[in-house]
Amino acid sequence: MNARRPLVIGNWKMNLDFVEALHLVQQLGVLMKNRPVEHTDVVVAAPFVDLRSVSSIIDSERFAIALGAQHVNSQENGPHTGEISTSMLKRLNVEWVLVGHSERRVHYFMSDETVAETLRSVVRAGQHAVLCVGEELSIRESDEHEAFVAAQLESALGGLDEKFHALVTVAYEPLWAIGTGVNATSAQVSEMTALLRTVLRSLSFTSPQVLYGGSVNAENAALLVRESGVDGFLVGGASLKAESFYAILQACDDCYAIKR
Ligand code: PEP
Repeated sequence: MNARRPLVIGNWKMNLDFVEALHLVQQLGVLMKNRPVEHTDVVVAAPFVDLRSVSSIIDSERFAIALGAQHVNSQENGPHTGEISTSMLKRLNVEWVLVGHSERRVHYFMSDETVAETLRSVVRAGQHAVLCVGEELSIRESDEHEAFVAAQLESALGGLDEKFHALVTVAYEPLWAIGTGVNATSAQVSEMTALLRTVLRSLSFTSPQVLYGGSVNAENAALLVRESGVDGFLVGGASLKAESFYAILQACDDCYAIKR
């Protein structure tokens, strides 16, 4: 995939068993075959137990959808009950891995150090890491969001060998916008996207790909693409139905087609 080609990732979180997942991918794939999204790369980040089935249907039906995981352990193998390694994911054709989603950071105590280690293990395995960063409402209200997010980026990416930079995508996901129905405004996304790009350039990233996530739907996706500098979206709730996810893909694709 080209750097900076628009990208939309569906994060199913802990939803959809493998039968439901197959249904959704089948429906999505048919919509995409009837009217392809030409300018936008599409990824679904499925629960671990769905990966094998989803990988098979993508492969057999030749759907233009790449497979992602929502988390991985930074270790290669060993005594880590309940965990999964990058090599296990690779065997299932997983090309993308979310790293440091706020739900992992907050509810499963994923520290900045673990985020940095995990990101390194993902890119060393040759997979794309989607580093999630974003502030809680209280941090924004005290006007510390820029420093907070810059520190999250520096901690995860500082010192990363430049040969891995092309495998890193950053998703700005303010916690107050995730699953709340209240998305960040175009002005807020624009401001944070510019900040992220500045920090990433200071870390020697040449063409950083930046996504936005937080209550994205087809209407606000079109607006955000037109009015902010994002390269695409990380989508939770609206990725659970083929029609709503496809509408976001189409909105994104149409806007980028016009912008180009
Ligand atoms: C997410 O969990 O990454 C997310 C953006 O969720 P939602 O779209 O439901 O806000």
